[in-house]
Amino acid sequence: MKIHQLSVSAALASVFSSEQGLASSVAAARLAEYGPNRVEPLAREHWLLRLLKEFTHLFSLILWVAAGLAFLADWYDPDQGMARVGVAVILVIVLSGIFSFWQEARIERTLAALQNLLPRQVEVLRDTSVQTLPAEALVPGDVILLKQGDNIPADCRLIEAFGVRVNRATVTGESHPQSCHARASMLESHLDSENILLAGTSLMAGRGRGLVFATGAHTEFGKIARLTQAGTVMDSPLRREIAHLSRSIAYVALAIGVVFFAIGTAIGVPFWRDVTLSLGILIALVPEGLLPTLTLSLVLASQRLARRNVLIRHLPSVETLGSVTVICTDKTGTLTENRMRAERVFLDLRSVGVAELGQDPAVVHQHELFFRIARYCQDLAEVWRDGQRSFDGDPLEVALAEMSERVLVLPAMPPRCDEQPFDSERMRQSVIFPTEAGAVLYCKGALERVLPLCTSIHLAGAVRELDAATRDSILQAQDEMAAQGLRVIALAARPLPQGCPREAQEQALGFCGLVGIVDPPREGVDKAVDTCHGAGIKVIMVTGDHPRTALAIARQIGLVRSDTAEVICGDQLARLSVAQLQLALDAPEIVFARVAADQKMRIVEALKSKGHIVAVTGDGVNDAPALRSAHIGIAMGLTGTDVAKEVADMVLLDDNFASIVVAIEEGRAVFQNIRKFITYVFTHNVAELVPSLAFALFAIPLPLTPVQALSIDMGTDSLTALGLGVERGNPKAMQQAPRPRGAHLLNGAVALRAYLFLGLYEAAAALAAFFFVLHSGGWQYGTDMASSDPLYRQATTACLAAIVLLQIVNVFLCRSAVRSAFTTGLGGNSLILWGVLLEVSLILLITYTPWGNLLLGTAPLPVAVWLFLLPWALGMIALEELRKLLARRRLAIPKP
Ligand code: ADP
Ligand code: MG
Repeated sequence: MKIHQLSVSAALASVFSSEQGLASSVAAARLAEYGPNRVEPLAREHWLLRLLKEFTHLFSLILWVAAGLAFLADWYDPDQGMARVGVAVILVIVLSGIFSFWQEARIERTLAALQNLLPRQVEVLRDTSVQTLPAEALVPGDVILLKQGDNIPADCRLIEAFGVRVNRATVTGESHPQSCHARASMLESHLDSENILLAGTSLMAGRGRGLVFATGAHTEFGKIARLTQAGTVMDSPLRREIAHLSRSIAYVALAIGVVFFAIGTAIGVPFWRDVTLSLGILIALVPEGLLPTLTLSLVLASQRLARRNVLIRHLPSVETLGSVTVICTDKTGTLTENRMRAERVFLDLRSVGVAELGQDPAVVHQHELFFRIARYCQDLAEVWRDGQRSFDGDPLEVALAEMSERVLVLPAMPPRCDEQPFDSERMRQSVIFPTEAGAVLYCKGALERVLPLCTSIHLAGAVRELDAATRDSILQAQDEMAAQGLRVIALAARPLPQGCPREAQEQALGFCGLVGIVDPPREGVDKAVDTCHGAGIKVIMVTGDHPRTALAIARQIGLVRSDTAEVICGDQLARLSVAQLQLALDAPEIVFARVAADQKMRIVEALKSKGHIVAVTGDGVNDAPALRSAHIGIAMGLTGTDVAKEVADMVLLDDNFASIVVAIEEGRAVFQNIRKFITYVFTHNVAELVPSLAFALFAIPLPLTPVQALSIDMGTDSLTALGLGVERGNPKAMQQAPRPRGAHLLNGAVALRAYLFLGLYEAAAALAAFFFVLHSGGWQYGTDMASSDPLYRQATTACLAAIVLLQIVNVFLCRSAVRSAFTTGLGGNSLILWGVLLEVSLILLITYTPWGNLLLGTAPLPVAVWLFLLPWALGMIALEELRKLLARRRLAIPKP
């Protein structure tokens, strides 16, 4: 018989295991035999193929055309040395291809390294105790503990199941959660059997134990579908924007090139001259470094974030983060510490401090049932450390169990016969224990979800009927505790009648009392909330907790300051129409309380349709839709379930709200950096383009040869440009409103500054230097010059030197669009400083060494040229500082 057709004990025996799991030595031997529990990813494309692809991008294709043209021109008129241009262009294609190939490899490595921060772990019974091991260590015969939200790490047969429901979509395509049990099945195929959990699926509800019978490639998942490769890494608005931008630039470059070529041919310009012109235009306008720079800045930002406990699962999210306008955040564990301690209890309709309980053994004795529930109604693991027992699990349950331990000595937890697990929908949990007098049910949960089930109350040892007045006083007691920011949990119990069906178990309960639990706000959260306010980001608390508790915590961290904060409860929310909800979301301070996870989705959707960029946090299975729907889904690394982490864009390894704010700051920096890069690169593009146009229009010698233009793009300016792309954020970035939705990288202001201001200024300087040399050498307008003429070579060198010198200045001007270069300074970015060193060395090599002269057709410059350029450089600084001053004036908004 197959394993799903066997009874639990026979199934265990069939893989030579037991209820207590395997011994470590046995497991080690099996691991050696069966191999690690891992599905090897599909073989990837050969690296040569991937390298080849780098040479067929749009920009590369354009450059191939350019190279072809150059060789054609050389064949036509071999005296002009156009073959050299062709070779240079090919060199550029190869170099930039290798560079982006290296970048891609780097992304992959980074992403893989980041993924390792989130190991897949499982709770396994080994040597009769529960151990947390990496999923890869599983072997057939292992007994694993599974709970809501866990990914199933290997094919298992359930040997214990409480309310287990499983989503098999990844393996069978059936997306409806199926309920499962541990009984033997009569079905033929184990694929349909309700006691089988398949690797790659996840537990949507309940709790259970599974017996592993297949691992790694032997699992169904391993057989039918090799682990799918991570999807396209870079599909994001920014990526699209960059792709769009570069494509338009490329087409504009092609169009201008063709138009000028046509004009040239029409007015009878010699062919080689015509080709040179079009080449110059193409090379000037193609921004080769744009994509690699974007990638590099995203990768570096995600590495910085990883060091600050933020794991980016989806690289482009870094940039989306920068435009976030609303954060919907959980309370427990994110805003608070999630280290809980019972502070007050409500017994006999009286509120007592937990500290005073120990002094009154009589009260404790009368309420033994209350403390039994606190101790036994939980799913904690009991761990022994140095002879001391401690609890491991949900901090709320730890608080309850520890409170009970302190006042009453109870035997270790007896085995249970059934349970109704906690989920955030039900907001309560019930556990059933067999006793000699029949089964008893212990229940704990939110008062609103427990009190309606109660019909009686335990008072001073007696059980009385629960009347309306008593209900009111219980509710009032909860309000009082909640107003102090305490988390309130109700405890109740019931002897179960024989043969009570599962659905009827949680009925006719006897109310035992309340526990008020403190969960202090995290340190630094108040500052982070303040930063959000300053940055124009709205923070909305969405919690399953009581409205008063929520409000009290919100006040403690400065999320709510006025007396008119809007507090919306789950049942209210359910009644609001979409339009009403959107209106309600206009309130400046909102707290959502007693919200079920699926309602989070509604809030996110409403915010999205109001035009917000929404970040939302979540940890449970039911949070997954909201995480997926939000622009940025944030899962909790410590308390989050596998299911939540899998759909999230980013994972907070420390669960801390403040880390979200750090991430937003990085996101803003990335966008700004790409803009800085664009401004810088476009400046030299214009400076290269204008001389070519002047050459075409005014019958002057060509001021900058194509090879010289290339030496700027690929040589002198390469590092400085990259440096701008990876700048640290502006310290004031979080004092500004989020960037408007749909703001383009290249907006009017950026274009005006780069093309018409910096670019034209630099072009003017380059042309001026060119003519300065020509005139001092006695050149007359209209005279033709051979490309080998020493005067001509010197003049083009002056033009090149002018652009390089001004770009050295410009890199510091580009470090901010509004802040003075004297504020942003010279330091703080070593890549820029290395870049400047590269610029200086290269231009000196190009100008003053024989092989530099030979390679680029240059000639040494007299000092007079540098002296001539100095005022141009200073002028650039002065004009840009003046513009920034005016810009700052215009931007200055009085502080509220
Ligand atoms: P949040 O994380 O936003 O505080 P939850 O969804 O975790 O909200 O919890 C909602 C409510 O469910 C809590 O206010 C509490 O009353 C109840 N609750 C939370 N954890 C447990 C648990 N382990 N057992 C029973 N009830 C619980
Ligand atoms: Mg919770």
